[in-house]
Amino acid sequence: APYQTVDVHDLLGATLTMMQAKIPEGVRVVKEYDRTVPLIPAYAAELNQVWTNLIDNAFSAMREEGGTLTVRTGHDTERVFVEIGDTGPGIPAEIRPRIFEPFFTTKPVGEGTGLGLDISYRIIVNKHHGDIKVESHPGDTRFRVLLPITPA
Ligand code: ADP
Ligand code: MG
Repeated sequence: APYQTVDVHDLLGATLTMMQAKIPEGVRVVKEYDRTVPLIPAYAAELNQVWTNLIDNAFSAMREEGGTLTVRTGHDTERVFVEIGDTGPGIPAEIRPRIFEPFFTTKPVGEGTGLGLDISYRIIVNKHHGDIKVESHPGDTRFRVLLPITPA
């Protein structure tokens, strides 16, 4: 896949459009975009895969009770961030160290492959020299993807 100069808001818009039909009942989507975010060098299709994985997990976390998916962007001088937030039950502390491991899943057989976060981590960290940070409390879970503005 080619390395391009991308607008993260365009990519997020494309992903959200693709996922429109998968929004669980009782889940609303809120966009908090910082319009001053610069274009960044990236593999567009792969970043879309990352947003898809994170949003899919957020929707799963809110399938029972509903809630809010928040898609937030921002930047500093060196990095752009995209944060996917949900108001689901959160990630229990005892499984938190394992969520990026390949095949780690808490979902029923047939529902989760346990590969979403492993693949996402590799796309962001290995391929884009970025980072993924997680903060999770009951009712407030955020996956923050950081991407360098200048090519590595
Ligand atoms: P899968 O979705 O197939 O289970 P992932 O790699 O995407 O695999 O996620 C691994 C595990 O991390 C999930 O099974 C779940 O236990 C936990 N997890 C990921 N995202 C969230 C979230 N937003 N809220 C609660 N738990 C999460
Ligand atoms: Mg997943």
